Amino acid sequence: MTEARIAKFRKVLIARERELQQRLEHPEGISVQQQPEQQDVGRQRLDIDVSIGSLVVEWELLRNIREALHRMECGIYGICGVCDGPVGIRRLNALPWAPFCVKCQSAMESGDILCLPGSQPAAA
Ligand SMILES: [Zn+2]
Repeated sequence: MTEARIAKFRKVLIARERELQQRLEHPEGISVQQQPEQQDVGRQRLDIDVSIGSLVVEWELLRNIREALHRMECGIYGICGVCDGPVGIRRLNALPWAPFCVKCQSAMESGDILCLPGSQPAAA
């Protein structure tokens, strides 16, 4: 991958990292006011669960972004963490923080391989 291309992705990643960090530092909707007269506890519970669910997703994304930035520093950005093949420019354009190529990602999602650091994937 060319330096210019990496610089472009780095800009995208850093902007996204800042945005997420700000949101996670000031999460809105997570502090649900207790209203004794309101009997709709189930609904409130659901609101909290949804907020926490999206926070978890955002934390995960932030972690992926930081790992991608770290891989840039190590000079291994754009290389699949499982098979060492290229992640692919089209995939990186869509998901600049993608740590794996499409093949490994879908194999992992379908449970065909277990991703363990330093281990070779066991092909199905
Ligand atoms: Zn791969």
